[in-house]
Parts: sequence; structure tokens; C-alpha cells
Amino acid sequence: MPRSGAASGPMSGTGAKVDAMRERVCSKVGCAREAVSTLTYDYADQMAALGPLGAVGDPHAHDLCAIHTDRMSVPRGWVVVRHETLRV
Ligand SMILES: [Zn+2]
Repeated sequence: MPRSGAASGPMSGTGAKVDAMRERVCSKVGCAREAVSTLTYDYADQMAALGPLGAVGDPHAHDLCAIHTDRMSVPRGWVVVRHETLRV
């Protein structure tokens, strides 16, 4: 009795799932801690927004660990907006 078709159904893929579940790590060079927040730069308004982990793929967003979130600094004249969901 031959097995027919559908050996690999649409739900069998692991690639996309693994990618979505990928651990978020701090984007700072040399830092491999787990990211806890996302920093987004708005160059037009000279504003940096710090909040919960955001969507992946934003070229202006940088994931930061707790330490780098705390130490985060912005250029002079910039405004930092910290979302209140963060407690550090
Ligand atoms: Zn870090």
C-alpha cells in the first residue's frame, strides 16, 4: 500500500516558526544578553523612543538588554521617550 502525496503538508514547516520564536538579543556589539526593550530612533524629530520589544525588521529599531536600556544615552538635544511599561 503506497503512501500517496502530501508527505509534507503546509503545517510541517519549522523554518518560519523557528524564525518567529527566535530569541531576541541585545544589538550592542559584544553583548549577547536577552533583549528586553526596543529603542527606536526618529531622526527627523531627534527623538528616541524606548519601549517594549517591537516588531522585527525596523531598520531604525535596536533591541537592548536591561543593562544597555538603563545606560542608553542619546545625542545632545535629543529627547528620550520611555514608555511606562518599562520598569528599570
Ligand atoms: Zn546589551
